[in-house]
Amino acid sequence: MDVRRQIEVSGIVQGVGFRPYIYRLATTRKLSGTIRNTSAGVTIEIQGPQEAVEDFLTCLPAEAPPLSRITGFVVHDVACNGDADFRIVHSHAGEEVRTLISPDVAICNDCLRELFDPGDRRYRYPFINCTNCGPRFTIVRDIPYDRPSTSMAVFPMCPECQAEYDDPLNRRFHAQPNACWKCGPHVELWDRFGRKVNCRDPIAEAASALHAGSIVAVKGLGGFHLAADAISRAAVSLLRLRKRRVEKPFAIMVPDVAAAEDACEVDDAARRALESIQRPIVLLPKRIPNSIPEGVAPFNRYLGVFLPYAPLHYLLLREGGFKALVMTSGNLSEEPIAIDNHEAITRLGALADYFLVHNRDILLRCDDSVVRVSSGTTQQLRRSRGFVPVPVFLKDAQPSVLAVGGELKNTICLIKRNHAFLSQHIGDLENAESYRFFGEAIEHLKRILEIQPEIVAYDLHPDYFSTKWARKQSGTKLVGVQHHHAHVASCMAENHIDGQVIGFALDGTGYGTDGHIWGGEVLLADYCGFKRAAHFEYVPLPGGAAAIREPWRMAVSYLAYHFGKEFLGFGIPFVRQLDTPKTNLILRMIEQRINSPLTSSCGRLFDAVAALAGVRQEVNYEAQAAIELEMAISASNGQNGYSFDILPDGESWIIGTRPLFAAIISDLTKKTPLADISRRFHNGLVQVFVRIAELVRKKTALRRVCLSGGTFNNVYLAQQLESRLTEAGFEVFIHHEVPTGDGGLSLGQAVIATVSISHT
Ligand SMILES: [Zn+2]
Ligand SMILES: [Zn+2]
Ligand SMILES: [Zn+2]
Repeated sequence: MDVRRQIEVSGIVQGVGFRPYIYRLATTRKLSGTIRNTSAGVTIEIQGPQEAVEDFLTCLPAEAPPLSRITGFVVHDVACNGDADFRIVHSHAGEEVRTLISPDVAICNDCLRELFDPGDRRYRYPFINCTNCGPRFTIVRDIPYDRPSTSMAVFPMCPECQAEYDDPLNRRFHAQPNACWKCGPHVELWDRFGRKVNCRDPIAEAASALHAGSIVAVKGLGGFHLAADAISRAAVSLLRLRKRRVEKPFAIMVPDVAAAEDACEVDDAARRALESIQRPIVLLPKRIPNSIPEGVAPFNRYLGVFLPYAPLHYLLLREGGFKALVMTSGNLSEEPIAIDNHEAITRLGALADYFLVHNRDILLRCDDSVVRVSSGTTQQLRRSRGFVPVPVFLKDAQPSVLAVGGELKNTICLIKRNHAFLSQHIGDLENAESYRFFGEAIEHLKRILEIQPEIVAYDLHPDYFSTKWARKQSGTKLVGVQHHHAHVASCMAENHIDGQVIGFALDGTGYGTDGHIWGGEVLLADYCGFKRAAHFEYVPLPGGAAAIREPWRMAVSYLAYHFGKEFLGFGIPFVRQLDTPKTNLILRMIEQRINSPLTSSCGRLFDAVAALAGVRQEVNYEAQAAIELEMAISASNGQNGYSFDILPDGESWIIGTRPLFAAIISDLTKKTPLADISRRFHNGLVQVFVRIAELVRKKTALRRVCLSGGTFNNVYLAQQLESRLTEAGFEVFIHHEVPTGDGGLSLGQAVIATVSISHT
């Protein structure tokens, strides 16, 4: 006897080949019925013998298309009707047909095969794609997501492409960016003045220029890259010089996993991350020795590696015969990545010799994502292309919120129902171009996600550009959120935690409720509020931002704080190399409290120890001293660590650093190797944090701990603290989907703001 079932599927199920998939699933089982797009996703009615219908229901989620993401699946019995076949039906007139937009993803294996098949009509076509792959998010101008609202609108399909687009059994059924040599976008090579280079094959010509040591700007999915032959020391140095990027590591794109294995250690989890459809940059431990010049990622044990994701990249790397290309964001230092051809010539004309451009417009920039693989799981360092705009799924539905993030590594977050849409990486807002992009991204995301926020959430720091922007908004409720509270809430939200937790929020800088600069914070927190349970003792930050660029200032600050001017007599290399007039100036600033705000920052403590131990006195990029101090840790497994004071302070504790600095000075006097000093410092931190957590648990009976903040980008510290806390009986939560640094801040702000509405 026949049965009929209605299935409502929600999630990312439009524009990803879901209807043809269901069509095939039904027709191969000789089932009848319908499928149509709805505002929530798709609604399927399926009719036939019970056994075949059950089989259909089992297979449906298991074999769903790679870009789809099913978040809801509800089945009802309905009455059978006279349907004889299976049909894709149009949506009801006037019904809102809008669901989640898919991110941009890497070329699929079917398209890759066709790309290199001389018999295929798209052989070597740099824009080949299908419903399982290609651009989405970066070519959407408006919703609903179909061709006229994308940057493909200007390319009418040729009859062959149109036939594929209309055929439910074709892999390109309703693939909005579908195109071919005849009807689609094309590539050109330009010189640095924007003049077209006359050549038969622009990609081959670009490859020759790269082999000759030139820098080539390459337009990809989310913006331009600056490319250089990674094997050539000269090309890498030239790129550093032109980009004014002294030592910050570059990422390399390699043709395949085998090439990644030549340069780095690649375990199974890392291979999965490299080959995933998101194709992020994966930080991998360098193989020693390897053929990639040290100048690509100096003083670093890791190398950022990614595989090609656009067909254009495959053509360039494979046909060009490159072992590796440096592929770094097409920008000057901290500006946003360039996306428009003429904008690229203006902004990158002095950086690149050639421009490999195309005429499919990128409507919203999206940098490469960066992930790390740790203990078999992936952690986001920069969540951007490939992941955005897939939401972070929250436990419960919430009011609509816009959270504007912090100042550095800014992202914004929009909440609608139980979806928290974290934006792509926007950058450092003190840069005027990034600030403009910040405004554009807010408007664009509000439009394509259809969110009119009731609340705008922002950081308490009065000078952040994002804060100033938020405070100018009218017609919405404004909610200021403390920086470290937002970090902890961000970790809670992605782990679906309710109630109070012990939150470790460790980072460089965040504005505290007492007006000081916080950054080494242990909080008792829930979404409604927080209490400070412990923090590092305050020391002066002589020169504010200058102290962040010059870690030696922090070492002087700590030494003067603990030992007074006596430290100038210590017979250690750090003191001997100090410039006397500069040091005296710093000491005077501290003494007279001139431009020396107080800070409890964990990042600055790392800076001070790094400078004192001789790692680095000045930095060329954010957190460089802390990163190099971590890289210096010895391989030995010694567990002993430097000690800290734990000083009661009313209801909370202050973590004192005098014993730490006394011990480091003693070790330096004994000429203890840097590797051991670094390890003892890291171990000491882990030990004192576990003790603090135990003290808090004793008082509050809380046993759930959230770890958040940029300091947890330090792999050694993060892993050690997580395992020691777990051994001590705590339940530990860390970030996976969202960056632990300030890139994840907006999510925390947003969820805290949703709670505030019920308290007014
Ligand atoms: Zn494909
Ligand atoms: Zn065509
Ligand atoms: Zn932070």
